[in-house]
This record gives sequence, C-alpha cells and structure tokens, in this order.
Amino acid sequence: MANWENNIRKVVPYTPGEQPNQPDMIKLNTNENPYPPAPGVREVLRNMDTDTLRLYPDPAALDLVRAIADTYGLSDNQVFVGVGSDDVLAMSFLTFFNSEKPILFPDITYSFYDVWADLFRIPYERPVLDEHFHIRKEDYFGENGGIVFPNPNAPTGVVMPLSEVEDIVAHNQDVIVIVDEAYVDFGSQSALPLIEKYENLLIVQTFSKSRSMAGMRIGFAMGSPKLIKYLNDAKYSFNSYTMDRTALAAGVAAVKDQEYFCETCHKIIETREWTKKELSKLGFSFEDSKANFIFATHETCPAEDLFKALRERHIYVRYFPGGRTGNHLRITVGTREEMETFIGFLRDYLSE
Ligand SMILES: *Cc1c(COP(=O)(O)O)cnc(C)c1O
Repeated sequence: MANWENNIRKVVPYTPGEQPNQPDMIKLNTNENPYPPAPGVREVLRNMDTDTLRLYPDPAALDLVRAIADTYGLSDNQVFVGVGSDDVLAMSFLTFFNSEKPILFPDITYSFYDVWADLFRIPYERPVLDEHFHIRKEDYFGENGGIVFPNPNAPTGVVMPLSEVEDIVAHNQDVIVIVDEAYVDFGSQSALPLIEKYENLLIVQTFSKSRSMAGMRIGFAMGSPKLIKYLNDAKYSFNSYTMDRTALAAGVAAVKDQEYFCETCHKIIETREWTKKELSKLGFSFEDSKANFIFATHETCPAEDLFKALRERHIYVRYFPGGRTGNHLRITVGTREEMETFIGFLRDYLSE
C-alpha cells in the first residue's frame, strides 16, 4: 500500500438493495411503497417554475418544516429535515454521539448504523435480540454513549410497545435516544408524544416508505427545540442547502394530503395481513410485523433457493445470507395484485 493510503478514512460501505429494472418485475426488495405519491405532488412538479432553480433553496427549508410541524401539532423549532432519513440519521450520529462510551443498538437491525458509527469513529455495542427477535429493554439500561433503534425494528418488523420505549428513554436521560420510526405509519404507535416530556429524545421519520417518495429523498426528525438547534448547527457546518427546491415543494404537497396518506397506508396494512395468512398456509413462519414487510423463514425450503427461484421469475425480495437471519427473506408488501402473484408462484414452487 502506498504511503498516501495510510491517511485515508477507510470505510466498509452500506450495501443498498438492488434496483433492477425489468418491465414485468415485482419489486419487493427495498420496502418502497407500491402506490404513487399523493396527486398534489404531480401537480406541484408539473407547475414547477424552472427559472427559480438558478436561486439557492431556503437553507432553513421552512415551508416543509412548517408543513410537517402543522401535521404533527408541533412548533417549527421542533422539526429538522434532510435528504432522506439516512441524511437525518447520519447528521444525528455526528451531532449527538460524541462520547467515549459505546452507543447501543441491536445486533439485528438497520445495517447502516454500524457503518455510520465506523465512519464517525463512534464506539458501539450491539445487545442481542431475544429468540423471538425482540429487543430486551434491560440491555439498554447500563451506561452508554447514546442509543438508537428502529421501531418497528428492521428487518424483523417487530414492534416494541410504547411503554418499553419510554422505559428506555427514562433510564437514559444523560444521553440522546434516537427512535428511527421509518415504518411507524403501518400500524404501530409513535413515541412522538414523549418528546414533550424528554428533552433528549429524537424521533426520526421518512417520506420514503409511507409517503411513497423514496425517489425524492425526504426525511425528518422531531424533538426538543434544543436538540433541533444542535442538529441545525451541525448541518450548517456541513452543507447548508441539503434540500433542493423540487424536494421542498413536493414534500409540502405530500405531507398536506393526509387523506391519501391514510388511505394508502391502510391498503398496505390490509394486504400485509392477507399475505401473512397466505404465507402461514404455505409453511412460512415469522414474528408479527407492523411494517410494510414480512421477515419470513420456510419450514423446509432454504431461503437462498426461494430467493433464486423468485428472482428468475423477476420477483425481487431481500435475502441477507449468514448469521441468525440467514435463512430468512424480507418481503416488502406490494399491491394486493402483486402479492397474489407472489403467493401463487410460491404455492406452485413449493408443491413441485
Ligand atoms: C428505509 C429506512 C431508512 C432510510 O430511509 P430514507 O429513504 O433514507 O429516508 C432509515 N431507517 C430504516 C430502519 C429504514 O428501513
């Protein structure tokens, strides 16, 4: 290795799910929403005045911050926005996890957390989920440099009751606790009400899943004005203009259409429950999921074989080889029609 390579910040990057592009594909591998964004988003983009693109966007992203604050009954100074929740989470790691003590997150969880921790040189420990893939709250009661976990967890879909989330926050008032609620809109309870009680709690959500806008890159955090100020200070020290004009305008339109949002979330929940029943009939087992995916294993057929067979039929699911989860598939909930095709394929394949 040449000497100049010694001083490089070396990282093992996060591997995003693949983005295949076949006309007949059924894409159930990256937890995207099968429905289009709210109709207002299309209007806004159609009517966008491209002349304004010569001007920088609003660094405070105030229109979007305000629209989110209004939707969730908050003040503007309790909301932070970024380029997808990955951006918001990365900025939060950089801002809040600055201790010599290890931060804590589950052994099985969103696989970006250890990547950011390594990138920012944050020490971490990973308490082991129990045999049903549940987070054991007591594992998070010891001394630490901060805590982060998704609720529902990914890729398991398992939800932690709000009382247990509060227990973790209550035991950790000297550090920042981040709850990543990427999937909360698919039928679980948000910890948002707790931000009035705990100044050290940050809730992170995204437009990528429940608001059908993964391609637009919008995420946000909600917390005490103090936490939000610290986040903004870090952001303005890194890149003032994270959100472009298009994303700001489209984001406002998306968040304002609460009716469409509820309707599409409801459809996905219904389809998820139908898919669970069908998967059980075919010999799959899984912990109960409150997300827009199901993390399932089959009683006889190895996950790798299923993954490959599905792939040949251009049905894409996610498969994480190795470890405790190596015989599982993570199946995103698509439209009812897509899931019927998926189940039909499995039924034929498993009876061969
Ligand atoms: C999808 C996901 C995110 C990131 O989503 P963005 O598209 O960056 O908003 C964050 N956390 C978890 C657990 C996710 O599954």
